[in-house]
Amino acid sequence: MGSMETTPMLDQYRRLKAEHPGTILFFRMGDFYETFGEDALVASRVLGIALTSRDKKKDDSIPLAGVPHHAVDGYLRTLVQEGHSVAIAEQMEPASEARGLVDRQVIEVLTPGTITRSGILNAVDSNYIVALHPGAERIGVSVAEVSTGEFRVGEVASEDLAALLLEYPSREILCPDGVPADLGLPKIAPRAHVTRWDAVRFDARAGRQALERKFQVRSLDSFGLGDPGLGFGAAGALLDYLRSLKKSDLPQIGTVLALREGPSLVVDEVTLRNLEILESQAGPEHTLLHLLDRTETAMGGRALRALLRAPCAELEVLSARLDRTELFALTPRLRAEIRERLHRMPDLERALGLLGSGRATPRDLGTLRDALLRLPDVAKTLESHRNPVTEAWRAALPDLSAPASELGRALADELPPAATQGGIIREGYDPVLDERRREASTSRAQVLALEASERARTGIHNLKVGFNRVFGYYLEVTRSQLGRVPPDYVRRQTLAGAERFVTPDLTRMEERIEASSIESHRLEAEHFQKLRDLATREMPRIQSAARVLAALDLHLALGDCAARERWVRPSLAEDRGLRLIASRHPMVERSLEPGAFQPNDVALDPEQEQIWLITGPNMAGKSTFLRQVGLAVYLAHIGSFVPCAEARIGLVDRIFTRVGASDQIARGASTFFVEMQETATILRQASDRSLVLLDEVGRGTSTYDGLSLAWAVTETLHDGPGARPRTLFATHYHELTDLESRLPRLKNRTVRVEERGHEIVFLHALAPGRADRSYGIHVAKLAGLPEGVLSRAREILARLEAGDRAPEEPAAADAAEKERDEEARAPSRVAPRFEAALARELARVAVESMTPLDALNELARLRDRAQKSREH
Ligand code: ATP
Repeated sequence: MGSMETTPMLDQYRRLKAEHPGTILFFRMGDFYETFGEDALVASRVLGIALTSRDKKKDDSIPLAGVPHHAVDGYLRTLVQEGHSVAIAEQMEPASEARGLVDRQVIEVLTPGTITRSGILNAVDSNYIVALHPGAERIGVSVAEVSTGEFRVGEVASEDLAALLLEYPSREILCPDGVPADLGLPKIAPRAHVTRWDAVRFDARAGRQALERKFQVRSLDSFGLGDPGLGFGAAGALLDYLRSLKKSDLPQIGTVLALREGPSLVVDEVTLRNLEILESQAGPEHTLLHLLDRTETAMGGRALRALLRAPCAELEVLSARLDRTELFALTPRLRAEIRERLHRMPDLERALGLLGSGRATPRDLGTLRDALLRLPDVAKTLESHRNPVTEAWRAALPDLSAPASELGRALADELPPAATQGGIIREGYDPVLDERRREASTSRAQVLALEASERARTGIHNLKVGFNRVFGYYLEVTRSQLGRVPPDYVRRQTLAGAERFVTPDLTRMEERIEASSIESHRLEAEHFQKLRDLATREMPRIQSAARVLAALDLHLALGDCAARERWVRPSLAEDRGLRLIASRHPMVERSLEPGAFQPNDVALDPEQEQIWLITGPNMAGKSTFLRQVGLAVYLAHIGSFVPCAEARIGLVDRIFTRVGASDQIARGASTFFVEMQETATILRQASDRSLVLLDEVGRGTSTYDGLSLAWAVTETLHDGPGARPRTLFATHYHELTDLESRLPRLKNRTVRVEERGHEIVFLHALAPGRADRSYGIHVAKLAGLPEGVLSRAREILARLEAGDRAPEEPAAADAAEKERDEEARAPSRVAPRFEAALARELARVAVESMTPLDALNELARLRDRAQKSREH
């Protein structure tokens, strides 16, 4: 605030503002939250609300912008989504009871990563905040979801930070101040707001002690955290930060978990996008998430998303998950019953966040009651399908019948949004409260009865008893009857056609009504507080129940999808084989007529058939095949069934995908550079356990350059030092199929088509062998290229295929054009000669130790060599 204006209220405002630097202060004034000064300028710009000033007559008066309290959630959402933090200062006492200035306190600070208000959160998206404590090579990590109480701690290698942030997508990242490096966050988490916090608070030893204190244990050994090392520093700082924002001890955080259940299947953002796991350029209905999301509750919805972001590579964990999925897949009755039990089940996890924040309203408690009262039915359903899986769930479901019945007994059916006006407690719960309510209603009845008795006493036939908020109860007499008003009537209010009076009797009754209502509201508020405390004490058990419900819902969805789509349980192994029989692409299959999708098999293993080189016409289904293999492997690693008739999958540590420029993924100008960067990553990082899906390599440059690179990359994947990743490589470089004779673990596969007269029919069936043509012109016709262009193209192709070097060149054909024509037909004839030279050159190329720049330089050199060899 630039102005010198000062009043006690503004002093109060300035104090609160100073205590919460970096936030926009929402200052409660009656029915509005007001912002002042700079905050008002920001709020009016971001929220599109009117900017006024406290005193319009003065030029230097403080700018002011306010929002009504009942609509505050929408405004908060917008501000927080824009990356702002908001401190909310409430009136701690009703203005009517305040002596002097109303006491105001900041009850909560909302930051992008720490929202608990259900009105602002998206029900099925988790809202994570991640704290990082970077060390020399490893980074301590702690993750919290304040609205549900999820809290994790661990450590990751620096290069795995990007994968971690894919797993826990966060809007806010907490880092120690003074850390000079930005950890690459602007690139790997561009949407996250980075908050700096006092570096001293990231001390690992103090952090460990803070966790021990928080969970009241002498040692954290039983939590199965492994050794989170620097993670303790991140966790300590995160708890500290959250406490300062939420002004509470965070009772919703009842336990701490490891970052992951076991080793993970690592996928990068490129792969997530290529396989269309969570998002698709074609729209959300084309994603794997959409196909799987048959959850009933928001808890299950969030659990499914979390699972899809964190595929796991631990056999034991996956077998246990597959057991649960299988149970639902094979038991339609259990599916139907659990679905019914979970239908419209309230969000217990987020109820925890509200309880933890101390802001749970009577309606929130009512929601909690409704959920708790339904738990015994869930338990019964599990008991009626006895087997090890249901028994484990049953055992994990805590008995919450005591708090449930207490809330059931205490709370009214319909509940008010706030705790101040009564209407919360059910009749019969507290005799004293009932008595007060009876008194109030008796007095109210007496007031109403007064109408009849006063009419009789005064002879005023239209005398009315009424009530308004300012004057309370009154007796109303129309102007024409004023002559009959008795002397004990005291005038209160004059209207156009009538006068309003009170009598000593009426005043006495009103006082009685008021006294009993105040007393009954007080009693109700007291009960409400006790019930809220009761629920808060039960939080750890409510959290356990919520986890069981989320897991049930999650596996219900996986089982349901498996049954509906006729998927099978994959058999997982520690070896490196991969055998899928009749595998399908789940999303493409859905988009086609039933039965129209042609299933295909795959069998890879590092000893015999490590690489499949797949050629085939455009549109034949090569990309689809690659992706369906990737998706089956992915699904198996979350504990889902897979779209195959039979599947045996050796566990995978990473899936790499590289999709060619021909697939039109928008990548900006440096398409080829990005393509080479991605290829370099694969060559550097793929291990024996990885799955590599290459959909074209080297298409972003000229034919020879591209072919040379694709060739060298294939050889390196086959013979590279150490790793022999299982690889599917789809390409239009038909020359590469020659490699089959030289590389023993490389096999050619082709996607078959049938020629029927002038037409070709795509069979989408994979078979051993190579394609000799791409049928590009045919596909161009399907795509609607003008007939003139097509017939000219056919003419040129025929001449090229006949070996004619100069197919009736267009007059303006320049040298470059000629060269391109030559390239288009040359490889098959030039390849053998070129190959020998190339092989020698390439054998010397240490691709695995090259930087992308070295690779480009080397590439330029190879190209020069190639051009020279053609000139001679
Ligand atoms: P290009 O070389 O031009 O990139 P491609 O060989 O990669 O083509 P895809 O994009 O995989 O071809 O497939 C083209 C279309 O063929 C798909 O959109 C799908 O509709 C259909 N298709 C793919 N595979 C199958 C299949 N197995 N059964 C039925 N239809 C399929």
